[in-house]
Amino acid sequence: MKNNQHVGYRHIFGPVPSRRLGISLGVDLVPHKTCTLNCVYCECGRTDNLALKRKEYISINSITAELGDFLSKDPDLDFITFSGSGEPTLHSGMGEIIAFIKTSHPGRKVALLTNGTLFYNPHMSAEILDLDLVKVSLDAVSEKVFYSINRPHRGLIISDIIKGLISLRKKFANQFWVEVFLVPGFNDSQSELKKIRNVLSLIHPDRIQLNTLDRPGTEQWVKPVDKKRLTEIAAYLYDADIIKEFDTDRYSPVYMDGFHERLLATIVRRPCTAEDISRSLGMDVNEVRRHLWTLTENGEISKKEMPRGVFFIKRS
Ligand code: SF4
Repeated sequence: MKNNQHVGYRHIFGPVPSRRLGISLGVDLVPHKTCTLNCVYCECGRTDNLALKRKEYISINSITAELGDFLSKDPDLDFITFSGSGEPTLHSGMGEIIAFIKTSHPGRKVALLTNGTLFYNPHMSAEILDLDLVKVSLDAVSEKVFYSINRPHRGLIISDIIKGLISLRKKFANQFWVEVFLVPGFNDSQSELKKIRNVLSLIHPDRIQLNTLDRPGTEQWVKPVDKKRLTEIAAYLYDADIIKEFDTDRYSPVYMDGFHERLLATIVRRPCTAEDISRSLGMDVNEVRRHLWTLTENGEISKKEMPRGVFFIKRS
């Protein structure tokens, strides 16, 4: 594999490791913060373009060209994952891009990380049936809590979204996971958790994951749920897994050329500590700190202290 393979890619990023997906190549299908929601905890900042209309936000050809180029080098990957800093299902060409990967690179597994808000549209859900894994977010069942945490496009109704998820699950034969992000004071009450539990029992996901804030979110007032309560809630929600990002013993290879670009591409999609990046890229933490110091001095990134450590954030 050539060392400069990452230079010039605009819509694919990584590969990054995760405990559940292994080594995953990210694909960003929409411009930064184009989303159907504006979640208070979003680690990519406020939604600039609160959208509901599906369209070809980025040309299908430019995405498939980058994918084709990267995959032609036969990289060691476990998944190609539609994710990034917005809602991937807003891209109207998603079905076509999935078909491209499945046809041109039949051995590759493809995953989608989504807020699940568009699956009430049967045409949209039909496009993703060939995926190997779908992970949807579901933080609320009550309209009031949905509006408070997820601050959706006004055209969205939570009861329709939930019907869409239940219906998709019935048709989707591969791995279907649900993630619940807990925001204390909003969706951690017993009454809301009971509603979420009921909906989970109707969806029957293969896996349930619980998440809480551990890196800078959009709103400063969002706090993490404490560990004890998180464990209690995980037990109540059918023994959900508690997410710990970057917890992996597998590293993606280090590509030194274009390293600053890769570092920025990672940070713009997710604030990280030096230790997160070190684990993610399999690189000595002091070496990572040196690069981060340069980027900070250049004014390209800034720092923020959090309980888990110092996070680096892309400057806008
Ligand atoms: S967390 Fe996901 S769904 Fe929520 S605003 Fe951010 S990108 Fe959109």
